[in-house]
Amino acid sequence: MKNLVSIVVPCYNEESALKIFYEEIVKVSKKLSAAAFEFVFVDDGSNDRTLEEIEKLHKRDQRVKFVSFSRNFGKEAALLAGLEYAKGDYVVTMDVDLQDPPSLLPEMYDAVVSGNYDCAGARRVSRKGEPPIRSFFARIYYWIINRLSKVEMIDGVRDYRFMSRKMVDAVLSMREYNRYSKGIFSFVGFRTKWIEFEHVERVAGETHWSFWKLFVYGIEAICAFSTVPLVFAAALGLLFCFVAFVMIIVIIVKTLAFGDPVGGWPSMICVILMMGGLQMLALGIIGQYLAKTYLETKRRPIYLVRETEKDLDRKANK
Ligand code: UDP
Ligand code: MG
Repeated sequence: MKNLVSIVVPCYNEESALKIFYEEIVKVSKKLSAAAFEFVFVDDGSNDRTLEEIEKLHKRDQRVKFVSFSRNFGKEAALLAGLEYAKGDYVVTMDVDLQDPPSLLPEMYDAVVSGNYDCAGARRVSRKGEPPIRSFFARIYYWIINRLSKVEMIDGVRDYRFMSRKMVDAVLSMREYNRYSKGIFSFVGFRTKWIEFEHVERVAGETHWSFWKLFVYGIEAICAFSTVPLVFAAALGLLFCFVAFVMIIVIIVKTLAFGDPVGGWPSMICVILMMGGLQMLALGIIGQYLAKTYLETKRRPIYLVRETEKDLDRKANK
């Protein structure tokens, strides 16, 4: 029996990239004749012709499976759905825009199938082609999150992974609503081999990430994998209590010695404003965690499926 390798591909408005991707991945999979393949495309509520393109592929090639969402749930939800749907002994997650080069697959396959590793991940070593300001913020961001979180987040790691069934099951056992895949993969551990490659431009279509979206995503990731901001808020509070205490003593002594009761009104306003600001900051940090807890406790489904290839086959057989 050949090993079954499932390729999981989240797609959101990718009609122009899909076919190019499919042809590329089929080419590479032919080289890996020792394995059988299935391709699981997750249509994340696209509003272009992505689903039609996938359906066409399914009619041509029965190895193409798909899950289509009832609306856009985001890449993290799409990855989860794909992993749940994949039946393979090994599962690969990769983007459809060919920024995750399929040519790395044979090397990843060898590393994991040999049993030396449970996972092979791709790591982009250069950020060429990216606006310098974005690279700069990315570097600062990784520095901060790695100080705050016990789970290691490596810069340049993509959601391009070749995983053993054991690792996939471990990832699936994490049922959280606020999903940050990088953190989840890192949290489950296992032996991972890193394969480095140079940054590749998108073949077609355009990125779904604006600077603001990335910023919000980054904050959510910190909340999901660290509670240090809460400690930070408490520490800030303690520090200011201490400063206030010292100042009270200084003022009492000064008033008793020199008698100057009304001076310093402007500085007082500054202190009040600053304290108000810090209190709002601390409340905001607590609120962020509370909001996440609220969302988790609702236990809403992470994604909703509208159609899969089984529905399509049923329709065709009628
Ligand atoms: N994607 C998705 N749902 C979304 C946004 C993106 O499934 O809401 C998919 C997208 O189709 C692509 C992958 O996630 O296959 C990565 O997206 P993109 O290329 O925009 O991200 P980047 O490579 O710029 O980080
Ligand atoms: Mg991309």
